[in-house]
Parts: sequence; structure tokens; C-alpha cells
Amino acid sequence: MIWFKKRNSKLTSQQLKDIPEGLWIKCDSCGEIIYKKKLDRNLWVCPNCNFHFKVTSDYYLKIILDEDTFEIFDENIRSTDPMKFKDRKKYSDRIKAYSNKLSITEAVVVGLGKIDNIPVSIGVMDFRFIGGSMGSVVGERVARAIERAIDERIPLVIISASGGARMQESILSLMQMAKTGALLSKLDDAGLPYISVLTNPTTAGVMASYASLGDIIIAEPKALLGFAGPRVIQQTIGEELPPGFQSSEFFREHGFVDKIVPRAELRKTIAQTLRYLYRPADTIKSNIFDNE
Ligand SMILES: [Zn+2]
Repeated sequence: MIWFKKRNSKLTSQQLKDIPEGLWIKCDSCGEIIYKKKLDRNLWVCPNCNFHFKVTSDYYLKIILDEDTFEIFDENIRSTDPMKFKDRKKYSDRIKAYSNKLSITEAVVVGLGKIDNIPVSIGVMDFRFIGGSMGSVVGERVARAIERAIDERIPLVIISASGGARMQESILSLMQMAKTGALLSKLDDAGLPYISVLTNPTTAGVMASYASLGDIIIAEPKALLGFAGPRVIQQTIGEELPPGFQSSEFFREHGFVDKIVPRAELRKTIAQTLRYLYRPADTIKSNIFDNE
């Protein structure tokens, strides 16, 4: 009964060669070849193994915010190459090249928007821009997003994806950690919630500053999280690392992450959490009024 013979789902190397480029993509985690349109419909989550592909800042804004509510801020803040850094290419040229290639001007996009009608100050990092590294511009935009949350008395949501501090800006990158951390304590004093979302990967300077300071920390499944890379740690402590070390699941198990949320449920979970933690000023007023 040849008609019912199960087809081998693995493609041969010749078949792979015949596939037009750009239509299909290989899953980084399980190696499955997936039709891009299908992957897009599935929010760039592998239907076979649930691996969450990296997506752009635009994509997160689209799936998390209410339609047409995003207003971008601080686009005019750009880096000036204070260290005159040069490796193969001048740093300022590198920045220009990335800005021209991508539709963003830095590794974070910040602004105001609404999630299920709740106003938020939001920042979304973009790994495509020099590995989502944090230089003075990323730090300043995040700082202003925090200040905007305080000024408007609204919650803060930051979605992180980063390889860490930007080496081309040296100490100026590192001081962004202290700056954003200090401002987050002001947000805390103002009694406003901050939800930090960790995506694959969130590491080093960003992880060690604002990404790990959320009132609620949410992570996408199987994301690489941590400060130094596993090899560096292994060499430093001279010990084998436990399996799954530095994954979202490991962090959840050890109490660092509050919840692991698949991309499809991110918007709903953030909205639900904000409803627990935040009450807009006018609602508070009317409640007081009711009590009198
Ligand atoms: Zn997969």
C-alpha cells in the first residue's frame, strides 16, 4: 500500500539545495526546516520544539501594544563616539551602517503606548543592532523611559535582549548600569510597577542592571540568561556547570525569574499583571471619593 506509506519528513541535502532562499529557515534549536510564513503565523516560535526565535523591536511592539497606540520618543539621541574607537571599522561608521541597514537608530526603541488600554512607558531592545549592546544612547533612552513613567505616573515595561555593555564606549557604557539602577529606585519610590521581560539572550551589563530589577520578571522559554558566559564561569570556578544552567527554566527554578511566558501569552500576562499592580490616578481618586 504505497499510497499510505509514511513519508520521510527529513529533507535530503539535494532537496535542501533546491529550496529557494529566504522562504525557509532552520530552527537553531531542533534543526527542523520551517516555512517562514508558518513561523511568522506562529509568532516566530518553532512549531516543533517551541524554540523562540529572536524577533525585532518592531515585532514586539506590534504583538504587545494596542494597535496604533505607540508613540516613539528620544529618536534624536545618538552616539558621538567619545572614545574614537576603531577596530576594523570606525565606531561612528559602524553605527551609521547599522542605522542605514535596519529601520532603527539604536539597540533600544522607547516610547509611550497602551497594553489592553493601560498606558505604559515602554522600551524594547533589538538584538540586531550591535548585539543589543548597551552604550550611552541605550542607557539614556532607558533612563528617559523610566523618568517618563514617573512623570506620567504610569507603569514601565522593558523587553530586553542584549549581549551586554558596548565595549566601544568603555566606561560610559558601564555607568549606564548605575544610572538606570538609580532611576529605577525612584520609580519604586513613586510606587509605580516595572515589568521586565527577558528574551533570548539577556546577558552581562543589561542583565546586571535594569533587566534584573523588575518588580515582576518574566522570561520567554529557553532564553539564555546570565552575566558571564558559561565557559568563562566554568574556567573561573573550575567546576562542571549543572545541565540547563543559564536558561529561563533554571532561573525560574532558582527564584530569579517569576514566570516563564510563551510569546503568544506575553501581552495577556503583562496586562493581567499590570491590573494587579497598577491603578490609574483617576480610578484611585474615584475610590477615595466613594469612601467619603
Ligand atoms: Zn525547533
